[in-house]
Amino acid sequence: MISETSNPAETRDWLPWPVRIVLVRTTHPGNIGAAARAMKTMGLSELVLVSPREFPHEEATARASGADDLLAAAQRYETLDEALAGCRLVMGTSARLRSVAWPQLEPREAAATLLASAGAGPVALLFGTEKSGLSNEELDRCQVLVNIPANPAYSSLNLGMAVQLLAYELRLAWLGEARVPVERDVAPARAEDLERFYTHLQQVLINSDFLDPSNPRQLMRRLRRLYARARPDEQELNILRGILSAVDPAGEAARRRRQDP
Ligand code: SAH
Repeated sequence: MISETSNPAETRDWLPWPVRIVLVRTTHPGNIGAAARAMKTMGLSELVLVSPREFPHEEATARASGADDLLAAAQRYETLDEALAGCRLVMGTSARLRSVAWPQLEPREAAATLLASAGAGPVALLFGTEKSGLSNEELDRCQVLVNIPANPAYSSLNLGMAVQLLAYELRLAWLGEARVPVERDVAPARAEDLERFYTHLQQVLINSDFLDPSNPRQLMRRLRRLYARARPDEQELNILRGILSAVDPAGEAARRRRQDP
């Protein structure tokens, strides 16, 4: 929490849930400053930067105006993995709708869903680099995509503006708390545990000759989307990992079965 005088329950200044705004590979430092200002006006404080081209930078400080405390407190990482550690829900914003198969929400629903998950732990909202947005590999890390339904003929907002809009929706969702959907009783799996699961799944699919590593096509991406729609919780993920270990033809369980049929 940034302000020493804040008491969220009464004053409703700072959002009382851990919502990370993650700016990925930002090119223009001015946009980092604009994002910080957009966040602070809406009571968000957790700014996370992944491989910014230039930061700290005087342009960032200038555009942040009175939100330079957020810049000073910003977490900076080289990789997205580090930025997402511990996150229970990861959403990525995109100016283009890349595929209908990916779970997609408009900003209003996205904000309510993020707040609902933030009760179980940190959640993250990703913003891509100015020219090309989030890469496919970065989108693979997201369980949900968020699109601001802009003019289809000109749909790409300035990065700081996109942060402003989503930050505003988060604030509205908080102020109208009653509409925030209730999360399940078991916490959704963490981002890093999901990654371990996908690595394990891929290995077992290769070991069982279902997946040909020399011709993987889009299999893993499609499976990611399937599991992203289901959003497994910690227990469900443990069950899936257990099944993978039991059926892996190269695994310990199969070796034991061969020795002692
Ligand atoms: N050509 C890029 C635009 C990048 S704009 C693309 O197609 O994605 C930089 C970032 O601003 C985007 O990665 C996204 O995080 C955000 N953004 C811009 N316009 C948006 C929109 N209409 N909906 C959601 N996010 C948007």
